[in-house]
Amino acid sequence: AKDSHQNSASVRFNSTLREKIERKHSLEIMLGNADFSREFQLYFQPQFRISDHALVGMEALLRWFHPHQGMISPGEFIPVAEETGIILPITEWVIDQAYATIAHARKASSLSIQMGINLSPKVIETADLLASLKQKEMRHCVPPHWIDLEITENSAMSLHATIEGTFDQLKQSGFTISIDDFGTGYSSLSYIRRFGVDRLKIAKELVDHVADDRNSQLIIKAIIMMAKGMNLRTIAEGVEYQDQLDVLKEMGCDEMQGYLWGRPVPFETFKQQYLS
Ligand code: C2E
Ligand code: MG
Ligand code: MG
Ligand code: MG
Repeated sequence: AKDSHQNSASVRFNSTLREKIERKHSLEIMLGNADFSREFQLYFQPQFRISDHALVGMEALLRWFHPHQGMISPGEFIPVAEETGIILPITEWVIDQAYATIAHARKASSLSIQMGINLSPKVIETADLLASLKQKEMRHCVPPHWIDLEITENSAMSLHATIEGTFDQLKQSGFTISIDDFGTGYSSLSYIRRFGVDRLKIAKELVDHVADDRNSQLIIKAIIMMAKGMNLRTIAEGVEYQDQLDVLKEMGCDEMQGYLWGRPVPFETFKQQYLS
């Protein structure tokens, strides 16, 4: 009877909103209880140079297999982990696994591939990131130039000038830095210089339309031109079709990562497919 004044749209709205809040709350609790080494696994997606199809890197992408809920996508749980702060121990775990894996990959093959690791702004701002990377470096004998640190365009923009020093130190140590999901935010290009960026990862949202939409084409073309002028590499994310790749190649894009040439897979599969 209490709800009798609400129209059906508002009931629907309230119940979806309530469901979202409940889902978020249960994710928080599940993350708090997660047994990382049992429930988490890194998958790896290959990154290729377009000109000769050479493997240049692999990106570590976190997978969560919950014992009762099954697989939960990082798009859903990473934002929650960032809010609660559990992203800090999660990233510790990711870095450790990623270092162990690139050590293994470099032993299995003579290719000079890099391991891409995604970093949330919270990790850069609050964790002693450099100390943690150094510790893993010693444990796994992995030099910094084997590691590419990915930060999204939106989070790079949100970071305070005070963490510029952190980037300086990372660069001085020999890590490379890629800007993830580039081209959809409201970029002030000055941060690309300030953060000593090495590579722009052109957002899938733009790549999706590169074969047929004039606007996406113009934007990607401008990004590639600018990157060349600034001596940065470009990698297109989420390339699924040959006609997309053809256009990107024509525009002078350096690298690609996408289902067309390789999906994220567990390391054993990666090794069989790309390192032997
Ligand atoms: P991202 O770093 O931009 O990673 C690329 C995403 O695009 C991955 O989704 C990948 O599976 C997907 N992708 C790549 N190629 C294609 C394609 O051709 N088609 C389609 N449809 N998708 C493609 P995923 O693995 O679900 O990860 C989503 C996001 O979660 C990542 O976006 C990243 O922001 C975040 N993430 C994943 N692992 C970590 C992590 O260890 N730490 C942090 N902080 N974030 C992570
Ligand atoms: Mg990424
Ligand atoms: Mg991306
Ligand atoms: Mg993304």
